Amino acid sequence: MSAKKANLSGELKKYFGFSTFKGQQEQIIENLLEGKDIFVLMPTGGGKSLCYQLPALISEGTAIVVSPLIALMKNQVDAVNGLSSDDGVAHVLNSSLNKTQTKQVFDDIKSGKTKLLYVAPESLIKEDYLDFLKEVKISFFAIDEAHCISEWGHDFRPEYRNLKMIIDKIADVPVIALTATATPKVQDDIQKTLGMTNALVFKESFNRANLYYEVRPKVNVDKEIVKFINQHKGKSGIIYCLSRRKVEEFAQLLQVNGINALPYHAGLDQKVRVANQDKFLMEDADVIVATIAFGMGIDKPDVRFVIHYDFPKSLESYYQETGRAGRDGGEGHCLAFYDPKDIEKLEKFLAQKPVSEREIGLQLLNEVVGYAETSMSRRQYILYYFGEIFDPIKGEGAKMCDNVSNPPKLKDATKDLKKVLEL
Ligand code: ADP
Ligand code: MG
Repeated sequence: MSAKKANLSGELKKYFGFSTFKGQQEQIIENLLEGKDIFVLMPTGGGKSLCYQLPALISEGTAIVVSPLIALMKNQVDAVNGLSSDDGVAHVLNSSLNKTQTKQVFDDIKSGKTKLLYVAPESLIKEDYLDFLKEVKISFFAIDEAHCISEWGHDFRPEYRNLKMIIDKIADVPVIALTATATPKVQDDIQKTLGMTNALVFKESFNRANLYYEVRPKVNVDKEIVKFINQHKGKSGIIYCLSRRKVEEFAQLLQVNGINALPYHAGLDQKVRVANQDKFLMEDADVIVATIAFGMGIDKPDVRFVIHYDFPKSLESYYQETGRAGRDGGEGHCLAFYDPKDIEKLEKFLAQKPVSEREIGLQLLNEVVGYAETSMSRRQYILYYFGEIFDPIKGEGAKMCDNVSNPPKLKDATKDLKKVLEL
């Protein structure tokens, strides 16, 4: 074990071509190789995959990687296989494989060639797979996107809840859970559900110092946004709306105003949707007006603004959606339009849901309202929500927020608006 440890940098260079580890990657990998359970909280783009890919490549046996989306798994399998001349180093196991393909995967695992096996949790319960996996050498389990376990997360998947039971059936090996969702509630839920309350926790800061956070009262919102975009001519931006209808209407309104904007939502024809997304990525369109269906896995480095026409349903999703701005470290303006009436509409909508879902939804909304109405540093507010203490005066990016750079007027305006609307 120690020989491996000493040479981790060499292995990093050999397999990935990188000369240095990012953040806490090295300590994470060392501890995993020593057999400890690990919990990693790192923002998107932090380099989580390498924390299990590298140790898997240099360990005996196969690491089982649980991941929620086929597309994510396929990308990773191709990337890992591209690292070596051998094709069976990584495989996906799921029911779309025919008999011959499944046999190939099993043979590669038995021969010791396969170092990473990607599975969706719903595949992992299949008896044939379970029976096979019980008999082979497993190095460790990696649970990627581990927030899918929690109803408090932004992407709850019921199948994730059975993982602990399945893992216990397969092998007694270390577990590494990874997520970019860091609220203490989600963290707690993940650790309890996976039975890893004693895991070593590695948490990196979620502060995005280059993003500017601003909330404006939702008055003359159409005009305000047109004006904002015209002040950022030629720059890339995303505008999030709650409904598909609004997305289409507003994209049209922008077009009429001479702005190169396109709509995106799950109800559009697949071809149109992909074409619009590609045009945005290729800079043939400056602005994409979208529902929250847009963004998962999108990695456009130079998005300069993210505008919320309608307020988000949770601070968690707000952080994820605004996180798509300024990936390259450059300017990123995050502007949200707030109207308490919108929140009332969301509350009414929640009233039709089952009790547990409703209660969680209402609590998440409360936190969002708190963010909208706060007069403190919005960065401090968001980071506090993620369990981080941020110094609103000296912290990195402290001035990048309306409440800090321009305090009194905006606050009063929001309050006044609230009063008016409550009458
Ligand atoms: P996450 O899953 O945390 O969102 P990824 O695992 O997808 O992040 O990694 C994000 C990017 O960082 C990838 O392009 C990856 O190649 C790169 N990366 C990871 N580790 C390193 C490193 N040590 N040096 C340089 N780049 C790295
Ligand atoms: Mg990832």
